[in-house]
Amino acid sequence: MICANLEAVREKIAAAARKYGRDPDEIKLLAVSKRMNVDAVREAWLCGQRLFGENFVQEAREKIALLDHPVTWHFIGHLQSNKAAAAAQLFHMIETVDRMKIAAALDRHAGRLGRTLDILVQVNTGLEAQKSGIEPQNAEQFVRELGTLHNLRVVGLMTMPPFSADPEQSRPYFRTLRGLADTLKAKKLFADNSNVIVSMGMSNDFAVAVEEGATLVRVGTAIFGERV
Ligand SMILES: *Cc1c(COP(=O)(O)O)cnc(C)c1O
Repeated sequence: MICANLEAVREKIAAAARKYGRDPDEIKLLAVSKRMNVDAVREAWLCGQRLFGENFVQEAREKIALLDHPVTWHFIGHLQSNKAAAAAQLFHMIETVDRMKIAAALDRHAGRLGRTLDILVQVNTGLEAQKSGIEPQNAEQFVRELGTLHNLRVVGLMTMPPFSADPEQSRPYFRTLRGLADTLKAKKLFADNSNVIVSMGMSNDFAVAVEEGATLVRVGTAIFGERV
């Protein structure tokens, strides 16, 4: 089941990319395994999936300990300062950096571990009061400030638009994020301006995200089924 779902998601990504004249290979699929057990991760791995996302540090730690496969992990949840040390150790990328305090903590811990950590800046494109993320108009200043933290590499932007059952409702927010990424890229503010990551799109709207320029989509339910 997971294999068939993965295949269907990959096909949809490719179709959306081609429709908009994009190379399907430039879009990466993050399989969001939160609240799924390690067997589900193994099954997806056996179907060729290597990139996984988790929302909680403790849950990820348990799964990572049980897996002997080489897997690339992204953290996509709300990160608290007291979890920064563990996150800097367990994850290859933190997608949800939105305040200096957490960035400084990640930088410090990455330095201690003798590594550099890739991060994305989470942008609150919908300007929702209850949602994490920096407001679009403050993103450039924040990315510039992050440039002073030498153990972090800002490799792109991430967003989670206001929830709607209609994927078309997400389109303007995806467009905002892509536009912002292009602006910051033109100012050479990313660690690698020839390969800027734009993380947007979930199970119900990833095709629209690809149409609007996503280079990374984060898909859980459409791969693993409903979370219980
Ligand atoms: C849970 C989650 C996803 C995946 O959601 P689905 O609707 O299950 O695909 C993607 N991104 C973030 C930040 C999430 O928390």
